[in-house]
Amino acid sequence: MKIFDLAGKVALVTGGNGGIGLGMAEGLARAGAEVMIAARDARKSKAAAARLAKLGPGADWIATDVADPASCRAMVKATLARFGRIDILVNNAGINIRKPPETYAIEEWQRIIGINLTGAFLCAQACHPALKRRGGKVINIGSMTSLFGASFAAPYGASKGGIMQLTKALASAWAKDDIQVNCVLPGWIDTDLTKRARQDVPTLHDSVLRRTPAGRWGKPGDFAGIAVFLASAASDFVTGAAIAVDGGYSAQG
Ligand code: NDP
Repeated sequence: MKIFDLAGKVALVTGGNGGIGLGMAEGLARAGAEVMIAARDARKSKAAAARLAKLGPGADWIATDVADPASCRAMVKATLARFGRIDILVNNAGINIRKPPETYAIEEWQRIIGINLTGAFLCAQACHPALKRRGGKVINIGSMTSLFGASFAAPYGASKGGIMQLTKALASAWAKDDIQVNCVLPGWIDTDLTKRARQDVPTLHDSVLRRTPAGRWGKPGDFAGIAVFLASAASDFVTGAAIAVDGGYSAQG
């Protein structure tokens, strides 16, 4: 369908070399977008770009640390040099350190906030001049911890609560530039991030199955559709929204 068509568009996906980011990047590539992957691990990024290049019109990768303002600026420069434009930014890069709140070192707190929240802000700010040239889309990644308290992940929850408010602020500020900014709230998804959590908490696997009305863990491919919707003309009057992709997790009391 034409309103979902991304032919001629360029998408920049932070942390797009695996997990949810790659699931979104695959959707965008299949819908016709050229995709730039921005993450730290060169081996994973190279493999992801090769896979995306087979699904769509073209893909590449750039080594990026989203917590570093200079690296975010270099990421934008490299994307413009390679593809000539940026229409879609997916702020997906994220990390977690699970422990009781009273035990975090300040460096741990700052590292999580620096990547998950400040990193999303830095990337959005660096992309703004390119996005406003033709109108554009920013897709931020929140979490169920944007909505619910996570006793085991205070800085992560703070970063994901913050990204929902950042989404609303950018949506309000940049509507005049025809830039729509939305936030996706994943439920429990089977990725490297949650594999570590499952190792730490052996009961987690079954408790997610019990707590999720859909009765399963999400998979990266579940994010292809929402990525295409929020990146395409189909969502041109949707901005500042937080959309759960969670198998009903947040719908159940
Ligand atoms: P992954 O660990 O598979 O993906 C995280 C990605 O972020 C990796 O590609 C990693 O690449 C990248 N990344 C981490 N730090 C940086 C950095 N400083 N600069 C650039 N890239 C970075 O986990 P998920 O796919 O699960 O996570 C993706 C997003 O989804 C995160 O924001 C996460 O918080 C969120 N989320 C995940 C949920 C889940 O259940 N899995 C639930 C709710 C939200 P590299 O190491 O190469 O830099």
